[in-house]
Amino acid sequence: MLVLNRFYQAIRVVNVKRAFSLLCRELAEVVHIETDAAGQKTWQNLDFSGWQELSALKREFEPDGFDWIHTVRFQIAVPRIIRLLGYDKLPRQDVKFNRRNIYARDSNKCQYCGKRMPTTELSLDHVVPKSQGGKSSWTNIVCCCVKCNVKKGGRTPEQAHMHLITKPIKPKRSPVINIRLADERYQSWKQFLDDAYWTVELK
Ligand SMILES: [Zn+2]
Repeated sequence: MLVLNRFYQAIRVVNVKRAFSLLCRELAEVVHIETDAAGQKTWQNLDFSGWQELSALKREFEPDGFDWIHTVRFQIAVPRIIRLLGYDKLPRQDVKFNRRNIYARDSNKCQYCGKRMPTTELSLDHVVPKSQGGKSSWTNIVCCCVKCNVKKGGRTPEQAHMHLITKPIKPKRSPVINIRLADERYQSWKQFLDDAYWTVELK
């Protein structure tokens, strides 16, 4: 679930449990976006009870449009976007350099043969090997299948006559957010991640 700060800037992604905990404690509200038949977007800001009421309606008329949480007393839709009411720090600019984010940046594709594979069948490759002075950095580490990794060995791509399918770069925002954007259920996130949009709207 996407979290916005008070100024509607995307700051992070949290899990459902965390989001509901923020909502229940009135630290956050739901930003609910609807697209009407004409493609016009409208949004509503709802507190927990408002969201509960809307959920009841959606449960009746559009149950397929949402993921649902089932509690003993009621069912509530999982919101896609919440907005923190007190948080006004700017979004974290730095994307964490970790395995998950490297795989996400490379879309789980081996950067030599281009095959997409499950995480368990991929490894990380130093483009310029450590033994030749290569650093562990965004621009020198790529996702690589075991087969290509063995073939390349301790050599540079040139030495091994292998080619990178894309030049590794440091992502500007969390690659995990980019992946979710590809899922149509998360389309409503898009406008909050479009920097240009918000530069125009906010002075
Ligand atoms: Zn490969």
